Amino acid sequence: MTEAIAAARGEDTAPNQERDLRDLSLDELEETVVAAGERAYRARQIAHWLYRRNVDSVDAMRDLPAELRTLLNHRFRLAPPLVATARRSDDGTRKLLVRLADGEAIETVIIPAGNRITLCMSSQVGCAMRCAFCATARMGLHRNLSTGEIVGQVVAARRELGADEVLTNYVFMGMGEPLANYPRLLRALKVMTAPWGMGISPRRITVSTVGLPTTMARLLADTSVNLAVSLHATTDEVRDRLAPINERYPLKQLLEACSRLPLKRRGRVTFEYVMLAGVNDSPADASRLVKLLAPVRAKVNLICFNPFAGSGFQASSRSALQAFQAILHRGNLTATIRESRGRDIAAACGQLYAEPHPETLSQ
Ligand code: SAH
Repeated sequence: MTEAIAAARGEDTAPNQERDLRDLSLDELEETVVAAGERAYRARQIAHWLYRRNVDSVDAMRDLPAELRTLLNHRFRLAPPLVATARRSDDGTRKLLVRLADGEAIETVIIPAGNRITLCMSSQVGCAMRCAFCATARMGLHRNLSTGEIVGQVVAARRELGADEVLTNYVFMGMGEPLANYPRLLRALKVMTAPWGMGISPRRITVSTVGLPTTMARLLADTSVNLAVSLHATTDEVRDRLAPINERYPLKQLLEACSRLPLKRRGRVTFEYVMLAGVNDSPADASRLVKLLAPVRAKVNLICFNPFAGSGFQASSRSALQAFQAILHRGNLTATIRESRGRDIAAACGQLYAEPHPETLSQ
């Protein structure tokens, strides 16, 4: 017997709002309403209010019977993620500091570019991966986000958009390692893509990982979203230093796993490569990268390093970046340069740091 049915039978009379309504799958919503003596279609009505109308209270679900609303209020939270601050960059990027029910905070970034508006989403509060050049790593891992908190970022962002703005792309490149929070991420991706949920095309969603081989394969088997792998180095020596997870999954193992991924119609894996002056940006690195990626269906995204106080790294020069890109092109690798966005509000890649005061990360 599930928790929902027990609740509906009144076996637990104290309000127990541990779960957010947005943590529930459609099946669980159906179990809840059926156990309450309602017809199953009520579950889809609830999902419509949650994921299409983005409501922040059960009472706003006007077409539900009053008793069902009372039961839902009794059993579940519906925490509208509180946006503590929304800062706007000169380039239109907006950074939201989203407060969670337990006082923790995460950052979510809205990035308009041309006719796209990309949402950069977090998957954990902090991160355990210890990448040397990343501000979030300095926080350590506080905790995983729940499914409701992951999906809640979309709801929070939609509220910040102007009337004529629509989110078009979703990237898990904010705080945290999404594949280290896999069960909740997967449920969130289901809610985001399901027709009963947000109905977002999985092709518009990209999950970025530091490179956890087994879970990467599971993600591609379980979903149709795009995968990006943060590579950043062409030798184990350098990658051990930049992304210590490399000690557990060295380059050879990671790239073999990438070459065996069930890509189906997804095309290619994106490899992210943060360009760090004098560390990983030499022509020899570029040539090694061409060789390393030859067995993989790959494209490369060169990322301009975004400095933060005490990072100890410097961004590569424009000329180093372009020379690197040219070598990849000559090796028949598609390689784009990701320009930095929202730097003036510390909203750029790797600058997200939400504790205790987001703007005061110091040495
Ligand atoms: N943990 C996942 C997703 C979050 S990081 C991952 O590692 O991919 C998203 C991207 O931002 C990664 O490619 C990461 O290497 C990059 N990044 C981190 N810090 C950065 C910084 N200071 N400047 C530029 N990119 C950074």
